[in-house]
Amino acid sequence: MNIILLGPPGCGKGTQAKLLERERNLQQISTGDMLRQEVADGTELGQQAQKFMSAGQLVADEVMIGMIQNRLQRGDLGSGFILDGFPRTVEQAQGLGAMLGELDLTVDKVLYLKVPKEMVVERLLKRAEIEGRADDNQETIEKRMEVYLQQTIPVVEWYQQQSLLLELDGGKAIDEVSAKIRDSL
Ligand code: AMP
Repeated sequence: MNIILLGPPGCGKGTQAKLLERERNLQQISTGDMLRQEVADGTELGQQAQKFMSAGQLVADEVMIGMIQNRLQRGDLGSGFILDGFPRTVEQAQGLGAMLGELDLTVDKVLYLKVPKEMVVERLLKRAEIEGRADDNQETIEKRMEVYLQQTIPVVEWYQQQSLLLELDGGKAIDEVSAKIRDSL
């Protein structure tokens, strides 16, 4: 089973992806985690990406599509994958579709965790205190939300048109959301 998790920053994509990974032997593929690893390793890609990440902007589509292509080609996907944080633009979604076609894979479900903006800000500021992520500050959060509305909502609509989308209330407690996800799969 191959799943995409969509939703605004702080909607719980990472948390739910980790739960699914354990319960269903799926591989979580988090582009945010992959980029943070590149930054921590001080790679050329990491240095380039960091500028965009700390400004709350998106890293270029070609870079992200290349990163996912490498990961998918490596195989080792257990019983399937959970994409968390990708695709974030329609161009990335199209790139993903082409890659999956070549690998003879399909997306089975797109789970959209919907959360109101005020809750996003509140959750991310709380996460800043706990995890100390550099991009969880008020200014960058606002920018990430704006980028999300402009570039990622069209991805939600794109999958809706393909009848793959399942909308869930990401504002609920972690257990409630994961129970809903379990029921839906
Ligand atoms: P995340 O941990 O998913 O919130 O990602 C943190 C940051 O990494 C984002 O604000 C972007 O700057 C960058 N990023 C992660 N995934 C993508 C993607 N699919 N496309 C472009 N930029 C991304």
